[in-house]
Amino acid sequence: MSEGKENDIQFAKTPSYLSAVLRNRCPRCRRGDIFKSNKAYDLRKNNFMKMYDHCPVCGQPTELEVGFYYGTSYVSYAIGVAFSVATFVAWKVLIGLTFDMDDNRLFYWMGANIALLILLQPIFMRLSRSLWLSWYVKYNPNWQTEKPKHYERFNEDMKNAW
Ligand SMILES: [Zn+2]
Repeated sequence: MSEGKENDIQFAKTPSYLSAVLRNRCPRCRRGDIFKSNKAYDLRKNNFMKMYDHCPVCGQPTELEVGFYYGTSYVSYAIGVAFSVATFVAWKVLIGLTFDMDDNRLFYWMGANIALLILLQPIFMRLSRSLWLSWYVKYNPNWQTEKPKHYERFNEDMKNAW
């Protein structure tokens, strides 16, 4: 990466919350990647889920406590449900379906939806971590000058661990 490129990243207009979450960026600076690989389908050795300990741009820790991402399976489940609702509505509008057992279109939707859910799982899993972290770490417009602080709610418990 050239120096010019790096400057672009630091001084360009602040990316929106949504764009930072969707692109798996650190919620504090919205610029640094939280995952080491940008390939969601690098499934070897679980490479697609490997995260930086700290944001490579602003230093924000990506794991705020032990087992921090434990709850993300629920988030990923919720994303799957929302996705299924969306494909169901889209299918109903575009292709049409009834709940009549003779109407195979309902089953085609089910099959297509299950296949998509499986295919998109790596993206959903990464997205759920990105979302999760963004609920605990807020954007700091002074990320370039201020050091990342430890989160109050974890501070007391973690004091001895640091
Ligand atoms: Zn950052």
